[in-house]
Amino acid sequence: MKETLYTIPVNDAINADCECPICKMYRDIENDAIEFTMGPSYMEDDIRMKTDRTGFCKKHISDLYKHKNRLGLALILDTHLKYTIAELEKNKPGSAKAPSLFKKASGEDKINWLRNINASCYICERVNNTFDRYIATIFHLYKTDEDFKSRLMKTKGLCSEHYVLLYDSAKSQVSGNNYNEFISDITKLYHDNLVRVEEDLEWFTDKFDYRNADAPWKNSKDALPRTIIKTNSTVVE
Ligand SMILES: [Zn+2]
Ligand SMILES: [Zn+2]
Repeated sequence: MKETLYTIPVNDAINADCECPICKMYRDIENDAIEFTMGPSYMEDDIRMKTDRTGFCKKHISDLYKHKNRLGLALILDTHLKYTIAELEKNKPGSAKAPSLFKKASGEDKINWLRNINASCYICERVNNTFDRYIATIFHLYKTDEDFKSRLMKTKGLCSEHYVLLYDSAKSQVSGNNYNEFISDITKLYHDNLVRVEEDLEWFTDKFDYRNADAPWKNSKDALPRTIIKTNSTVVE
């Protein structure tokens, strides 16, 4: 079966006015996943079974709390807590023998299930599955659609994380001369736009000098939040 391609949302993100279209793609998928989780889906047994076993990371539990569906979140966390309590009672960590300092650990870890909960997040898993397909779609369009390629090159560039992501993914997505061309394209895109943002940020700092008080802001008023997208892939509010 042909894997799904997400040409419409990927094109939308490329056309958006932002410092990293891939950050925008990620945020859009993340918002959809939050809406999905706080929508009627949380009443479905199979979804609840999943959230019971994965829980949420710090970032996403805070997003879910901000969503204001307090009853929905309380119901999700209530069965999550019930699951946690039941597993704890089933595994009885108190009955474990103290591990010997001299013997190697036997491999028995009565709270491994809890380590898994702490390390997993329902929203992250949901987002990452879709996000991988978005990245594959970028490569597909780059290789097959000249217009997409030229629009990509006219975007405001990439954040550091997503430049590295495209760089690393290219190994399995493009071959031969296309590989070299892709790497040099995205490197130019990343570099030239870092230079642009750095100049804006420098002028932002220069504006603090009283001698520049009456000078125009140029493009530097929002240089700091735009820089933070480049350096940290994060929108600050
Ligand atoms: Zn990004
Ligand atoms: Zn998460």
